[in-house]
Amino acid sequence: MTIRFEKVQNPGKCPENIGEIPFGSVFSDHMFICDYSPEKGWNDARIVPFGPFTISPASQVLNYAPEIFEGMKAYRTASGKIQLFRPEENIKRMQRSAERLCLPQMDAELFMEALREIVKVDRAWVPDGFGTSLYIRPIEFANDVHLGVKTPKNCIFTIITSPVGSYFKEGVNPVRMMIEPDDVRAVRGGTGYTKCGGNYACSLRAGEQAAQKGFAQVLWLDAIEKKYIEEGGGMNVMFKIDGKVITPMLTGSILPGITRMSILEIMRSEGIPCEERLISVDEIREAARAGKLEECFCCGTAAVVGPIGELDLGDEKFLINDFKTGPIAQHLYDTLTGIQWGKIEDKFGWTVPVC
Ligand SMILES: *Cc1c(COP(=O)(O)O)cnc(C)c1O
Repeated sequence: MTIRFEKVQNPGKCPENIGEIPFGSVFSDHMFICDYSPEKGWNDARIVPFGPFTISPASQVLNYAPEIFEGMKAYRTASGKIQLFRPEENIKRMQRSAERLCLPQMDAELFMEALREIVKVDRAWVPDGFGTSLYIRPIEFANDVHLGVKTPKNCIFTIITSPVGSYFKEGVNPVRMMIEPDDVRAVRGGTGYTKCGGNYACSLRAGEQAAQKGFAQVLWLDAIEKKYIEEGGGMNVMFKIDGKVITPMLTGSILPGITRMSILEIMRSEGIPCEERLISVDEIREAARAGKLEECFCCGTAAVVGPIGELDLGDEKFLINDFKTGPIAQHLYDTLTGIQWGKIEDKFGWTVPVC
């Protein structure tokens, strides 16, 4: 399918002070849109000026939330070239999300083409400066107009982009986190492994209450036994215990992060001991008491690596690595960001040049 273009009259560019603008609050000139209907399939792929949609109050998405999204970035390297990081993984993940929510799967080739074209058309919006990037947000939702609960038929797929500064001004910056004792984010059999808006909607209350107590985010427990650690806010989580990096295994309620996967691949390639398995709060408590909890950090596209400097387990709290970024977290941050911003050789073949 060819993508039709309707460009803005006076294109803008990335604001100079992008580092001071809150994450995801300015948008580039254009957006990609493609419609789906059972008769036509995916049709009318177009890049048009960024702007609001008009949808009916009876649209399925506003009533029953059949909505999925992705989050990825375009990075400008020192030579001025722009590249994506493992975009095929985002495409595959969005297809898995679509399958779970009964939404039509976007055609992988058209998706890739749309990513390239939306970045190219708004390349003036890709900031330069290490740690800055163009955040890319693909979204898909059901737009059938009726109040009956039915499998989605008519959908809209769109991609918007937003220039962003470094998540933490200092690169990496430890935060305080607490175990969430009551609310759960996801349950096995549910939608935890998908990026759907509903997972976030039900997470807000715990995040809000944690913030009021001075924590950056909560650590989610499994919803069945409330025993195993699953994720940290909207990021995956890793613990270094007695020399080994352990991350919760993917049980179905955990989002399979591309940062998580990349970090595991980096560690395996470098011979850093690491493991994917269940991790209980009891194990963390015992390791911390024995002085063997050496590092904790979250990971995801937005912040890359976010160290946890203090962990509140409810009955007991622990300072981790003196509230300083640990050597493994720093090393992984440096390696991953080095590859993403083209500062070090991409021996994994993860980056995809765009323009
Ligand atoms: C997006 C997301 C992540 C991180 O995934 P990345 O692909 O590394 O950005 C982790 N947990 C949740 C709940 C997420 O939505």
